[in-house]
Amino acid sequence: MKAQAVIFLGAPGAGKGTQAREMANRLGIPHVSTGDMLREAVRAGSPLPEAVRARMAAGELVTDEVVCALVEERTRRPDCANGFILDGFPRTLAQAEFVDRMLAERGQGSPLVVNLEIDRDLILKRLTGRRTCPVCGRIYNLYFNPPRRDEVCDVDGSFLLQRADDQEAAIRQRLMAYEKETQPLKAYYRERNLLRDVDGNGSRAAISDEILRLLKDP
Ligand code: AMP
Repeated sequence: MKAQAVIFLGAPGAGKGTQAREMANRLGIPHVSTGDMLREAVRAGSPLPEAVRARMAAGELVTDEVVCALVEERTRRPDCANGFILDGFPRTLAQAEFVDRMLAERGQGSPLVVNLEIDRDLILKRLTGRRTCPVCGRIYNLYFNPPRRDEVCDVDGSFLLQRADDQEAAIRQRLMAYEKETQPLKAYYRERNLLRDVDGNGSRAAISDEILRLLKDP
């Protein structure tokens, strides 16, 4: 892999989490997901303010300060020295500028940005059908990638959970936040020739192969 930081960009439900996790496994580098870190912090009853939990449940973005601090700390650890995958970050222009400064200060060069594009009508099924294993983190979809047994993880038998923000009102809010705050990042990276578009409508395996090919030869 040439770039040290890979960013996964895309609407909620585009498959960022699934693909970012898969790439991290295949390449042997950490998967850094701000959504996962925030959910973990909330679950652990961390010192994060109640406002963070409330914003997440409503599908609103949390503040740049909170997520930038999480990413700064996580990517400074030694396991990120040879590269890492950012999933769900950056989501605002301020966050994108923060990443640029952070990578420049560390001499890590420009990121490569994988932009997953998915048809609008697929998004709702992807989000409302999504279930996650609370133990191993594996992601299923009741429509497209169901577990073998009703809402139970194939790997460890745990009961699968639906995220609070995968309910309809929160989904609408998340899509609005994406359109207003995150979409402009496409132009921001495209202008510098760092953006690579990937069709996220295909099969999970075909998309993984395409991304892997891109990462090896951007
Ligand atoms: P995700 O799992 O990436 O869909 O993130 C779930 C929720 O966490 C989002 O709807 C936001 O409330 C919050 N979140 C995650 N990443 C960010 C970010 N980069 N900036 C602001 N809020 C975020």
